Amino acid sequence: MRQPLIAGNWKMNGTRASAESLIQGVLKGSSGIAKTDIAVCVPFVFLELGQRMLSGSPVRLGAQNVCTEASGAYTGETSAGMLNEFGCRYVICGHSERREYYGETDAIVAKKLTMVASAGMTPILCVGETLEQREQGFMETVIASQIDAIIGANGIESFGQIEIAYEPVWAIGTGKTATPEQAQDVHAFIRARIAEHDAAIAEKVRVLYGGSMKPSNAAELLAMADIDGGLIGGASLVAEDFLAICQAG
Ligand code: PEP
Repeated sequence: MRQPLIAGNWKMNGTRASAESLIQGVLKGSSGIAKTDIAVCVPFVFLELGQRMLSGSPVRLGAQNVCTEASGAYTGETSAGMLNEFGCRYVICGHSERREYYGETDAIVAKKLTMVASAGMTPILCVGETLEQREQGFMETVIASQIDAIIGANGIESFGQIEIAYEPVWAIGTGKTATPEQAQDVHAFIRARIAEHDAAIAEKVRVLYGGSMKPSNAAELLAMADIDGGLIGGASLVAEDFLAICQAG
């Protein structure tokens, strides 16, 4: 039985004051939710705040990106070791916005996963197809190549300490959600792809859904057999909405 994980992806939103009140709200409402793992992936500059406020609570802290290198002359970058020191448990890797706007390739994502795992944290690997790829019938090819690239670079064992997030690009921030059946098909496909290499790892790995998940659709998505949680963008910025999704898990 895989315990659900609901992780908020705040993206580049908030002020110090709004971050503080959002964390406060999540903390307050999360105390009664025992059967779901909860995390908030905040902008780097709010990590210290998150570490301080979440210390001793079951809500985990996460970051949204990491450098491929351990240290050195990489202006503007942040290493996995630094994130670990600031109490991060999760790091989102390969989000479609990073792939699209910052040119992150599968090879770069694979390196980031390695850095995160070797620093003792858990990467959340994002995969997903664009609308064009889906409409042209390439959805499975795209997902398979994103998963296979990581298996090829880091080995199947690396999936033993990873969370996967299936995020159809056409559903992110658009208000369009994959139907539970559409999402379930892809989640099952991802699990089967991993099972071709290692059935035990495939059974254990959590595959989260991301793409306009909100209180009104969370329960039906999370009820599907292979949907093990959610990566939540917009709805994670409102404590009540985020908590309602956590309750649905
Ligand atoms: C995301 O960016 O990871 C995401 C799922 O965003 P939204 O929930 O806003 O679609």
